Amino acid sequence: MRVVSLGSGSSGNALLIEAGPRGRTKLLVDAGFSVRIIAERLHKIGVHLTQLQGVLITHEHSDHVLGLPTLMKRYHIPVITNPSTYAVIEEGLATGMWRSDSGKLVSSQKETIPLIDPANDATADISTQDQDGALSAEPAIVDVSSTPTLFLPLEVGASRVIGDITVTSFSISHDAVAPCGYLLSAGGCRVCVVTDSGEVTPAMLDMMRLADLLILESNHDRERLLRGPYPYYLKMRILSSTGHLSNDQAAEAVLRTWRGDSVRWLWLSHLSRTNNTPTLALGHMRMRLKEARANLTQLHISVSPPGMGHTWDSTQLWHTSSLWNMPG
Ligand SMILES: [Zn+2]
Ligand SMILES: [Zn+2]
Repeated sequence: MRVVSLGSGSSGNALLIEAGPRGRTKLLVDAGFSVRIIAERLHKIGVHLTQLQGVLITHEHSDHVLGLPTLMKRYHIPVITNPSTYAVIEEGLATGMWRSDSGKLVSSQKETIPLIDPANDATADISTQDQDGALSAEPAIVDVSSTPTLFLPLEVGASRVIGDITVTSFSISHDAVAPCGYLLSAGGCRVCVVTDSGEVTPAMLDMMRLADLLILESNHDRERLLRGPYPYYLKMRILSSTGHLSNDQAAEAVLRTWRGDSVRWLWLSHLSRTNNTPTLALGHMRMRLKEARANLTQLHISVSPPGMGHTWDSTQLWHTSSLWNMPG
């Protein structure tokens, strides 16, 4: 399984998840950037938009769906999400407006069709790639807006097999119609994605406990948010049970899902640029773990940046012998 963060935070969120022989199943979790940016970042890791089998959507806020109209209409990539989330997405497609995470209406027309010179960039729309990654000559991608969009329903709480990946959706607590996190399993590895939640519920902990790689929101430092420049109503919304997870809530969740028997990876994600810093988020997590006398060598912690982020590749990790030398 290969997981790559294409960007994380209020300016946009997207993850690539890849599994199966030669990474043949490729899914995005969220598409909160323009397709031009998504295509450019995928290109850096050798992936073309046309190789995606679907886009899982956690919820309908603009920082998670901005690129969706183009992915759906131009590339015909299936959307996988809860039916009520899809209904709101369809409304957004019809009205041309998305709701941002802070509640403002933003235009979905900000997304424009990529205009990259195909001679210089393989991410341009008019080229495509065959199974071996070679550029094919014919312009396979044409705008057929009359083609019905593929929608694969995945009720919150249900599981669905998509190619080589089993996806389980579970409820999180956020001010969207049916917000969810995802547990993605393939080849004995499990990745859990939990961002945009105001609280951590027992059901969320059950999913997080299973993860080898946990991608967890660590949105804000509570004190920094309270002292910071945001208007009062927005501070209260972020702190509410349907807002965002603080550094402290993230640490609490990690401690409550601690497994002493294995190595795990933790990506602190969806950090606020105003109310947090990578140093604060990492420092707080480490401090809480040390206080609880957790063995820090068991957990590889990093922060997902707003731009292109980390790669987690389970096929390489299993060959890293140092990871197996765990103290008994
Ligand atoms: Zn949100
Ligand atoms: Zn968000």
